[in-house]
Amino acid sequence: MKPLLDETHDPNVLSWVESANVAGTDFPIQNLPFGIFRHRNAKGPRVGVAIGDRILDVAGVLGYLEDNRAKFAVLDCASTGSLNALMSLGTDARRVLRRRLHAALRREASDSDQRAAWGHLFALSDVEMLLPASVSDYTDFYASIFHATNVGKLFRPDNPLLPNYKYVPIGYHGRASSLIPSGIPVRRPCGQTRDGDADPKFGPTKALDYELEVGFYVSGENKLGEAVPIAQAEEHIFGICLVNDWSARDIQAWEYQPLGPFLAKSFATSLSPWVVTMEALAPFRAHAFARPAGDPAPLPYLLDPGDQENGGIDLWLEVALLSPRMREAGIAPVVLGCSNFRDMYWTMAQMLTQHASNGCNLRTGDLLASGTVSGTDQSARGCLLELTSRGKEPITLPNGEQRKFLEDGDEVILSGFCEREGFRRIGLGTCRGTILPAA
Ligand code: CA
Repeated sequence: MKPLLDETHDPNVLSWVESANVAGTDFPIQNLPFGIFRHRNAKGPRVGVAIGDRILDVAGVLGYLEDNRAKFAVLDCASTGSLNALMSLGTDARRVLRRRLHAALRREASDSDQRAAWGHLFALSDVEMLLPASVSDYTDFYASIFHATNVGKLFRPDNPLLPNYKYVPIGYHGRASSLIPSGIPVRRPCGQTRDGDADPKFGPTKALDYELEVGFYVSGENKLGEAVPIAQAEEHIFGICLVNDWSARDIQAWEYQPLGPFLAKSFATSLSPWVVTMEALAPFRAHAFARPAGDPAPLPYLLDPGDQENGGIDLWLEVALLSPRMREAGIAPVVLGCSNFRDMYWTMAQMLTQHASNGCNLRTGDLLASGTVSGTDQSARGCLLELTSRGKEPITLPNGEQRKFLEDGDEVILSGFCEREGFRRIGLGTCRGTILPAA
């Protein structure tokens, strides 16, 4: 697996959509992430591509472009209200579409291309972004060894990492029905908790947390009973997004043994609206996590030279918090954690191959998430459980407020971007959610 670079990655190409050329934009012409949007002047939910501060109606523009391969391959897929059909096409068709959209949006585009695209551009501020895919199954992994160690220490100071960790990409089956798009508020969940030796109680969680994660969507299916070889795993990945796996730590602590997370996680999971394709990420691929001397090598079914060489992604991630009092005072969101996705112990290919290794069939549009992305130092912790040592060491916000866990009205904002010399910076956009009081 070698990342394929072509003219769509050329950092010198500019777009006639001027906002796409502004330094620091998440959506230059080299990105072209897909999402599903609704606009009062467009029929139904539509497939869109972000370009600067605009969104291009993909089916709309394809209908007007000169006959071409991209049009025949994807027009039907782009006319639906989810990305699933597009996801099922696979990498070749996706690459053809990317090159065609790139050609239509670059400054050197033909007059007819520009006219066609111009008529199908909307301001991002005028559209509503929906869930990108119809997700049948959602699985959450635990792929950061730093997160697993930090959390493990809180519960087992002498033995933080369980013996399976370096062998098995650990995961659990999440809940697909409560996946929500960025911007939809999250109601504080109620659940059963137990404080010390007191009798268990039912009520609103007092330990609501976020988890900074990366998600990836499955492209194409494997048949029930058939595994996905590690060398082919990335052909089954469409692209990535930001995931906030909201967690109620007090409910989790009481319910998680012996079967793992359940109601502490299933009340809501927020997703960023944009899916950045594997093609857009090609310039930012990195070596898989370098295992320290003494760690076991991955078992052969999880080991591929190509994946070891390029299976990581140099992707910076950030989580920020805005409290209601900060918002009133005009204070900017405060960054609580900043980590890099290349520090994950397991690659996306390893997670996907693990998932299918028992013959479990993955389906197009399934969502796999990485687990909380944390790094080595204190500033690289992807959830409050780690940052505050389970509430024992509260953090102080810029206006003096303190937080052990999230309070009602708090807004959590995830963001991510890739940056590398010789290439144009691309971003994932944001994934936001504000906490509503318990019902
Ligand atoms: Ca998680």
